[in-house]
This record gives sequence, structure tokens and C-alpha cells, in this order.
Amino acid sequence: MKGLMMDTPLLIPSLIGHAARCHAEVEICSLTVEGPMHRYGWGDCYARVQRLANALRSLGIEPGDRIATLAWNGYRHLELYYGVSGMGAVCHTVNPRLFADQIAYILNHAADRFIFVDLSFVALLEGLIDRLTRVEGVIIMTDEAHMPKTSLPNVLCYETLLAAEADHYDWPVLDERSASALCYTSGTTGNPKGTLYSHRSTVLHALGILIGSFALSGDDVVLPVVPLFHVQSWGIPHAAPLVGAKLVFNGPHFDGETLQRLFEEEQVTVSLGVPTIWLGLLDHLRQSGKRIDSLRMLISGGAAPPLSMVEAIERDYGVPINHGWGMTETSPVAAAGINPRRLASLAPDDRIKAKLKQGQALYGVDMKIVDDDGNRLPHDGKAAGELLVRGPWVTSGYYNDPEANADAFDAEGWFRTGDVASIEPDHHILITDRSKDLIKSGGEWISSIDLENTAMGNPDVAEAAAIAMPHPKWGERPLLVVVPRDGATPDKEGILAYLEDKIAKWWLPDDVVFTREIPHTATGKISKLELRRIYKDYVLPTAERAP
Ligand code: AMP
Repeated sequence: MKGLMMDTPLLIPSLIGHAARCHAEVEICSLTVEGPMHRYGWGDCYARVQRLANALRSLGIEPGDRIATLAWNGYRHLELYYGVSGMGAVCHTVNPRLFADQIAYILNHAADRFIFVDLSFVALLEGLIDRLTRVEGVIIMTDEAHMPKTSLPNVLCYETLLAAEADHYDWPVLDERSASALCYTSGTTGNPKGTLYSHRSTVLHALGILIGSFALSGDDVVLPVVPLFHVQSWGIPHAAPLVGAKLVFNGPHFDGETLQRLFEEEQVTVSLGVPTIWLGLLDHLRQSGKRIDSLRMLISGGAAPPLSMVEAIERDYGVPINHGWGMTETSPVAAAGINPRRLASLAPDDRIKAKLKQGQALYGVDMKIVDDDGNRLPHDGKAAGELLVRGPWVTSGYYNDPEANADAFDAEGWFRTGDVASIEPDHHILITDRSKDLIKSGGEWISSIDLENTAMGNPDVAEAAAIAMPHPKWGERPLLVVVPRDGATPDKEGILAYLEDKIAKWWLPDDVVFTREIPHTATGKISKLELRRIYKDYVLPTAERAP
């Protein structure tokens, strides 16, 4: 028997339509590339979103067409999220920090018809445009006064485009399973792969994070440092309008000084970003003596945070860290936060250590771990194996990529994350490594994450990364690459002495090398791929001496 309830599809325009009705005056403020802070409310935002949808129709955009963005976080980018998806096209956010070759590959693979570009990336696009096979035109996200001279063909100005249109649009009643947005993973191996989100997955993900530990409320002021080009800014642009939260966008500025200033001036209560961002913020706070007292939580995800970072933010600045895990392929949030009942039962030190876990599975996300032969491992918090997930906001296949899809799923249709994890009986997870970042010494795994995060607890260390080096006796042994903190001059002996009583003896790196900079991926994570390339000819002293 079928239920007798209305079959209203879950569509993206309903999110902002709700905000325009119920929270019209709540602000969205954006630091702009042009300079000044831009402010308006959800109501004005919705009117411009409808103008944009009309403009896209005038350009001849059809449902399912891909429209690319190359832009920082800001109000125009937010309008594209809603205008493009809402009228039935696919909002393809491209990470401008990728290598030019990868960007060209992604734009061609997605067959984007138009590209919306921030002023900052016009030169980047000029260098690529000859290689793009399907692009019909470029819209520069600024007003006439700031339009640059450019060699790009078929260029339009965003504000001029919107000015010519009406601010009412009748949203099509789409199938909720229609594609809404596209995001390519930064591609640690091979070509980047596209995750194609749907209206349904996006709305459910927004609801999912709101009932989890990332929950926002109507009196929150949220600053997502995580870019709109990186997995839909972790769902914030879709979740904030549901509760009427105020949004603050940091535009092209990611430095600790700007973030602290925005926190203070806008009285930000929640901010989200990768650990590299929070390490930069901490550095600035220590140097300037400034505080971040308006915050009620800092959300950290995308990479494992060092204990020293969590300790400093919680103890020295009194701001609770909320740690989450996810992937481009999981929309991205799949696990977040430590269950509050568990946290309340712990002593303060243990509470901070518990935050190193990646969080408890969100409603809607199933998780399992398997051994090398695909056999399920127990959820006892001890056994570690490859983590697989499934759920309504987990990918069911990469966009137009049969090769990548061939081994992305197991026989039961679960998505293989490539992360190695243990799962506790109540589904808190601990990621111990990326399967390919593990260091296998004498048949035993060494967690590069643990090693580098322990090293980062040393006050002389600004950043550390551990990679596997070939070793004739052990197969692989760890090399630790260290960036000293400003003004510090640590040496190998000092680093090893610091690590000695904190990790198993056989985990101690065989060598420590110092560098001014560790390479990062386009999403701010340590690039193990690039580090391995840099140190490919390096030979461990222990390997030279080995029998
Ligand atoms: P991306 O698709 O670029 O967001 O990268 C997803 C990958 O980042 C995951 O598969 C993990 O390897 C890593 N990752 C994400 N969140 C965390 C976290 N909280 N702790 C450790 N690794 C993480």
C-alpha cells in the first residue's frame, strides 16, 4: 500500500526560497576581489539568483548542461550555486589551485559550455582557453567598472548580464534525482574524477549535517573558510539558509590576520576549514596576542589535525574543535563529532584526545571496514582495514569514467574510500591512513599521520610530513620532512629525542630532513605525491648501511 503523502521533490531552490521567505534580512557578507565588503540579505540574494537563472536561459542553457565556475568564496559564487542548479543545469565548481593541465582536462572532460570566472583567475583562463574544446563563452564575475582588458573570446560581464533580467523565475519541477553540481577530486593518482551530485543528495546532505554535530541555528554567524570550489564548501551554502544563519565569506584571503579580523568584526560563531588553515590562524594569534572569543566551535576536516593544534585551540583559546571526515565522493560529510554523552563522561585531557577521532557516522551513512581480501572486520575500535561507505549522498559512480568506476565499488555496491580506519561499536571512526600513504616496515604498518602529527607537537616544528622510503631490509622505512618554526633551529637528534617516548621505537624515522616548505595539494593537504617526487632519489642512511 502506498502512503498518502504529497510527493514533493527535494529540489535545491526550495532551500533558498525558504531563506528568502523566513530570513530575508539575515546577512550574507563577502570580502570581494575588487576590495570592499559586500552585504545583502537572503531575500536580495534570492532575487539575484532568479535574475541569473533568467540570464542562463537567455544564453540558451538547457537542463543538464554543465556550467563551470573558477571563483573564490563570495556572494556571486553563491548565486551560481542556486541559479545554475535551480534552472536544471549543473554547477561545476573547478579548483583554481590545480595545475593548469588538470584544469584543462577537467573543463574538457565535463564539456562545460560557459565558465564564470573571478577577476583573480582571468589570466589563468587566458593561458588555457586555446585548449578548451567545448567552451562557448566566459562571464567575468564583476561589474562594468572593473572589467579587465582580456584576450578571452566571447566575454560577458556578470552584473550587466543580471541587470538585463527580471528577478522572478518559475523554477522547473525537476526529478529530484537530476544532476545539480559536479566536483572533481584533486586526483592523488591518475586523472581527476568527477562526482556528480543530485538535488536529492544535496538537500539530504544539508539536512544530515544539520542534525549532526555540525548543527547550526538561526543565531549562528558562519564563516566557511573551506572553498565553495571544494566539495560544496562542506554543505554550508545549502544548510545555512535552512536555519537562517548569517554567512561570511573571506574571498581571496586565507591568512590568520584576515580570519581573526572577520571573526571579531562579524562576531562569527562557527568556522570551517582544514588543519593548515587553523595552524596559520594559531600562529597569528600567538604573534598578535589576539583572541577568537566570538566562536562557539571550529570545525576541522579534510585531514587529520595534530593533537597540539586541538589542544592549543581548546585550552589556550577556549574554542571547542569539532572534527569531521568526508570526501568529495561523500558530498562530503559522512562522520562528524564525538557523541556528546561520551564527551561529557571524559576527563578534560581525554576529551581533547577523543577529538582526534574523525567522528561518529552521520544518520544516513553506513560504514564497514574490510581486510585485503574484502572480508568484513569487527567494529571493535581495534581492527583496522579499508573503509567502505554507502548512503543517499555517497557517489554511485564517477562521471563518464568507466575505468575509475571499475574498482571504486565492492561486490555489494559499497564505495571504497581508500582510507584505512577502525570503527568502534557505536560507529565512531578513527582514520589511521590513506591506504597508499601507509608505511609498511617489515610487514607492519606505520601510520604516517600519527608520526607527522606527533612530530608537529614539538614546539620547534611548524609542519612535518612522513613518507615511505625504500629499504633493503624492511621494505619501507619512514623519512620525516620537517619545516622548522620561524626562529627555531631544530636538529635531527632533537626531533628523534622528542619522538622517542611518544611512539613505538620501530616507528622512529630513519632520517629527518629539514626544508622551508612542504608541498600542499590544491585543497590544502600535504601532497605526499609531490613529496615522493621530490625525494625520489633520496637514499636513507640506514638503507646505505643495510646488509
Ligand atoms: P577530498 O575528496 O579532497 O575531500 O579528500 C578526501 C580524503 O581526505 C579522505 O579520503 C581522507 O583521506 C582525507 N580526509 C578527509 N577528512 C579527514 C580527516 N578528518 N582526517 C583524516 N583524513 C581526512
